[in-house]
Amino acid sequence: MLPPANLIDVQNATADLLRALGCDPTSPHFENTPKRVAKLYDKILDGNFADPPKATAFETVPTHDGRHQWVEVHNAPIYSFCAHHLLPFHGKLSAAYLPDCSLLGLSKIIKLVRHCAKVPTVQEELTQNAANLLLTSSKGFAAVVLIEAEHMCMTLRGAKSAGALTVTQSVSHRYEHASTAALHHLHAYLEQFQARARAHNR
Ligand SMILES: [Zn+2]
Repeated sequence: MLPPANLIDVQNATADLLRALGCDPTSPHFENTPKRVAKLYDKILDGNFADPPKATAFETVPTHDGRHQWVEVHNAPIYSFCAHHLLPFHGKLSAAYLPDCSLLGLSKIIKLVRHCAKVPTVQEELTQNAANLLLTSSKGFAAVVLIEAEHMCMTLRGAKSAGALTVTQSVSHRYEHASTAALHHLHAYLEQFQARARAHNR
């Protein structure tokens, strides 16, 4: 939740914005708009103030041929706000991590990525922040996030941009001192992940 003082600031700023746009904030349609906007932002843009979702960990980690297996989620909707224009962008996310000693609840993977989306941001930064949070929350070896999104700031400015998708992918890992074979395995996996994400997120 936004701190109470920030809610008042958002209300006042919204009334100022309406006036600057030549609208009368006291007319019937706009009368409660500053309050409504503050309430809405409190719900969807509180990421700078709310704690990330607590990660439930399960201690059984399945292995195959002695190797830990990546856990993947695809085709989950994601919404955020462009930091440059304060307009929404929305699309689909794919995320995966390679567990070490514990597993995250599956819904937690999506919640962690969505937590990072609850601030005005740029898609590139959102994707990297989400991969970093997924890695630290899972305490795993590596995490990857891919987002495909349509940006309203592009769409609203020209019909030619409608439906255009921006695709970003970020990886976070603990492979600084890994062997060449381990890095090769990581890169091979990331290529397969990207192909599956592009196929699923339709
Ligand atoms: Zn924008």
